[in-house]
Amino acid sequence: MPETYVHKFDTPTFKGEISVPLGLYIDGKWVDGSSGNKIDVINPSNGKLITKITEGSPKDVDLAVAAAQKAFDTTWGLHKNGFERARLLQKLGDLMEQNADKLAALEALDNGKTFNWARTTDIDHSIRCIQYYAGWADKILGQTIETSEAKLVYVRHEPIGVVAQIIPWNFPLQMMAWKIGPALATGCSVILKPSEFTPLTALFVAQLIHEAGFPAGSFNLINGYGHVVGQVLAEHNGIEKIAFTGSTLVGRKIMEASSKSNLKKVTLELGGKSPSIVFDDADLEQAVKWAAFGIYYNHGQCCCAGSRIFVHEKIYDQFMQRFTEHTKSLKVGDPFDPEVYQGPQVSQQQYDRILSYIKSGKEEGATIVTGGEPLGQEGYYIQPTIFTDVKPSMKIVREEIFGPVCVVIKFKDDDDIVAMANDTIYGLAASVFSQNVTRALSTAHKIRAGTVWVNTANMLYPQVPFGGYKQSGIGRELGEYALANYTAVKAVQVNLHLNLS
Ligand code: NAD
Repeated sequence: MPETYVHKFDTPTFKGEISVPLGLYIDGKWVDGSSGNKIDVINPSNGKLITKITEGSPKDVDLAVAAAQKAFDTTWGLHKNGFERARLLQKLGDLMEQNADKLAALEALDNGKTFNWARTTDIDHSIRCIQYYAGWADKILGQTIETSEAKLVYVRHEPIGVVAQIIPWNFPLQMMAWKIGPALATGCSVILKPSEFTPLTALFVAQLIHEAGFPAGSFNLINGYGHVVGQVLAEHNGIEKIAFTGSTLVGRKIMEASSKSNLKKVTLELGGKSPSIVFDDADLEQAVKWAAFGIYYNHGQCCCAGSRIFVHEKIYDQFMQRFTEHTKSLKVGDPFDPEVYQGPQVSQQQYDRILSYIKSGKEEGATIVTGGEPLGQEGYYIQPTIFTDVKPSMKIVREEIFGPVCVVIKFKDDDDIVAMANDTIYGLAASVFSQNVTRALSTAHKIRAGTVWVNTANMLYPQVPFGGYKQSGIGRELGEYALANYTAVKAVQVNLHLNLS
């Protein structure tokens, strides 16, 4: 029987005890992994060990796939009607709501995002996402198609079967909700692999899934390393579909594994290098605040972060002055301090990666306007950083840094800016700031990205599709669009009176 970890919080924003099961959740039970190995869970605020979780192995994946298939064939999938699936998801949403503060505290502890941001964005959004898909569960509709009076043709949207879902560390609970919401709503059986860096909220929510009464095997959770558990899931012949969120590099491996195994269906939500475009007719104060939110929210660890900020030359100096002041005013520190905007980066690895990008920016000749240094004696803190005087070929302009680091670039005319904004392998999101609706929308339509925000940034809703153009991904999550990822379309043709002679 796997252990449970109890964390005692005594912070300005949250006080109390939280218990988290540390094992694997397979076939409706908490179990030890077959390898006996553990993974360290590190607190990014101080680099110290929080606890150790069970590491899954290929054998555990086989057990989870068998349990998921059994559930799909007996108690889940087409054996549980939409109304009952809706009720279970609604119950899960209610349980998450009752535990919202605990979930926010765990997310802050494990990921380093502030308790307040976690509570008001990550956790609320995750609850809404589960509730939104509860609403869809009994509204999965096919069509009846007119062919001839002698026939009846109808289309069913059937659950695809056993699905694997691999998620990253930047929004641990939200990514889980985006994935399991549509999968469970449509009746698929799920095997979820959280990031090895941030497993705690998924473990906590697995308890709630159990409490809500989902049938054994309909949801399974296996923690583990990407190159072991993730890779085995991607290669597994018993899995019909894989949904992956993470880096473009690993996304390629997922597609390759699918193509070399059973051609499981693949959706990918990958990286970004999003442009924020500030025209000379923008509301400057608002543009500064939203552009700052675009890059610094979640410590820059957003796939859609507006890390390339393009500013019209007529307002460039004013923008820079205000944007720099705003950046300097952001308080970096303890995620449980109510005054703090930005906590630590998620891991030593990510901290080193961001600092190496800052070093490369300096070496390639860019100018640091503010920031550029680590902060504090312990933990993975980095100052919000602005670079100017950049060239399009620089690594800090081309590659996803995934930290609180942006480049600000001057532009002259509307035609140039579209080409500059689109000069990237990515196409996840963009922001356009202008008070001229024609200019804003005609630019928005020319940007090659899955989301374009006009006079805002980083806003996501469960009902609005999200995903990437180009190398930012394949397919869309959220909204009605995500349901298609988890359903197979079957046309049934019934002969009423078309007789062969
Ligand atoms: P990552 O690709 O390193 O890891 C993501 C997940 O994949 C983790 O669970 C990891 O264990 C697993 N993994 C690693 N190697 C694997 C392999 N060989 N086979 C299968 N699984 C494997 O990404 P990360 O560092 O956790 O997250 C950051 C990246 O995620 C960034 O590039 C970011 O842009 C992207 N991201 C995209 C979105 C989106 O919606 N587009 C959202 C969040 C994060």
